Amino acid sequence: MTSAKLLIFPPANPPNGSSDKGVSSTDHIVQALTKAIIEHRLLPGEKLKEQHIADQFGVSRTLVRQALYQLSQKHLIRIEQARGAFVAAPSIKEAREVFAVRIILESAMLELLIAGITPKKIKALRAHLKLEAAAVKGTDAESRTELLGDFHVLMAELIENEVLAQSLQDLISRCSLITLLYQSDHAAGHSHDEHIDILEAIAGQNINLAKQLMQAHLQSVLAGLALHN
Ligand SMILES: [Zn+2]
Repeated sequence: MTSAKLLIFPPANPPNGSSDKGVSSTDHIVQALTKAIIEHRLLPGEKLKEQHIADQFGVSRTLVRQALYQLSQKHLIRIEQARGAFVAAPSIKEAREVFAVRIILESAMLELLIAGITPKKIKALRAHLKLEAAAVKGTDAESRTELLGDFHVLMAELIENEVLAQSLQDLISRCSLITLLYQSDHAAGHSHDEHIDILEAIAGQNINLAKQLMQAHLQSVLAGLALHN
């Protein structure tokens, strides 16, 4: 192994200042690898070697395998039988397809949401945008991406149709990975501003405007991604 590779995982502090390598080791590896992927120290498509990671963290391969499994559940890496683990690399085609389906689904979602809108629901959406505003100003790309996606999931949840909410949740987690890998800080701030406009259209019960804004929003998120095949 080259020593340059060691820089991929800079020595991180164990959670809670504990030096115990027990319960929290898997989480610790998950966090360190997630950070390395988001910060592009590990590149999309790059192979992750179990033994190498185990050596770097000073843990067993079993713990590394658990961490890799958790990361695959979050779609951040993919595990291929007999080939090992790789950083996920969503293609431009996949990104376009996912966003195309979201535009169809979320346009219909807005009609249902506005048809049953109440002051309480508007209040819930406004409260969420406050959290989003704070995250967009911060430096934690992971929680920012999560909150930006959650705005869309929250709209689906407020309609109280679990099938719709679950379908959107799945699509949005695929989008979250794509944006986590390819979205700039600037584009994330832009997304937040567009959410504010969408909420105003919802509060004004303007279905056509809300749908137009949503379509433009999803297209601009897609366009703002640094995707290359
Ligand atoms: Zn959005």
